[in-house]
Amino acid sequence: SYEHIKKPEWLKIKLNTNQSYMKLKKLMKDKKLNTVCEEARCPNIHECWSERKTATFMILGDTCTRGCRFCAVKTGLPNELDWGEPERVAESVEIMGLKHVVVTSVARDDLKDGGAAVFGETVRAIRKRVPGCSVEILPSDMKGDYESLSTLLAGEPDIFNHNIETVRRLTKRVRAIAMYDRSLELLRRVKEMRPNTPTKSSIMVGLGETKEELIEAMDDLRAHNVDILTLGQYLQPTKKHLNVERYYHPDEFEELKQIALEKGFSHCEAGPLVRSSYHADEQVNKTTVQ
Ligand code: SF4
Ligand code: SF4
Repeated sequence: SYEHIKKPEWLKIKLNTNQSYMKLKKLMKDKKLNTVCEEARCPNIHECWSERKTATFMILGDTCTRGCRFCAVKTGLPNELDWGEPERVAESVEIMGLKHVVVTSVARDDLKDGGAAVFGETVRAIRKRVPGCSVEILPSDMKGDYESLSTLLAGEPDIFNHNIETVRRLTKRVRAIAMYDRSLELLRRVKEMRPNTPTKSSIMVGLGETKEELIEAMDDLRAHNVDILTLGQYLQPTKKHLNVERYYHPDEFEELKQIALEKGFSHCEAGPLVRSSYHADEQVNKTTVQ
């Protein structure tokens, strides 16, 4: 089990908690905003916030109606909808001087539109306040409701991102409520509705999938016209979460990246610390939609 697998050297990195980081952390607290960067204790936070000027905001509260077994976000009764949130996100994007922002959210299966209206409003607010900042959205599957999907797309995001997270066989074990084919269909629909918007998805490795299954997942994504792929190592957030079955070596990530590019993805980020939003700024405008 996990206890017997030693964390390899390339994953032992120190969190950089310098002054500028502390200042931004305070900003989030004052504005009552949540970021995945902080929640997930993402190791890239210094590079993203201070150097690349990217961040991932998690809107619609800090409590999710689902409970995926890889995810550290708390599950339970969600917060009241906060209509002031879109503007506060936009203000923070401006203060942080962000060039690329990812907007994601907890799943809100309690709401009829899954939170799509607030989501769309957030994209619009950022666009209005910081026109030079590119916006990527990373929504839940909205339970496959395509009306909510159009609401989401109304703000005209630069990238539409929706993660399948794992291979087909492991989906049930890894994700709650979400379904492999429903996620693929969602990605296909976006392409159908907005052919010029790059679509993107992410897979975590190390959950027990085989290489063949990973390749099959790549084929499935390409068959649904997905343009961008990110591949990263799954890390267990707490003992209660799924075990890490295997740590992939950086060379294996490189190999998977080459396979992905051969499959026709226009961009692939792959590496032990790669997260869905990692180096996302490089994917805007450099993605040739196919
Ligand atoms: Fe935040 Fe994503 Fe960067 Fe991590 S990789 S710090 S979650 S923007
Ligand atoms: Fe985490 Fe998203 Fe799953 Fe909620 S739906 S538990 S936020 S991965």
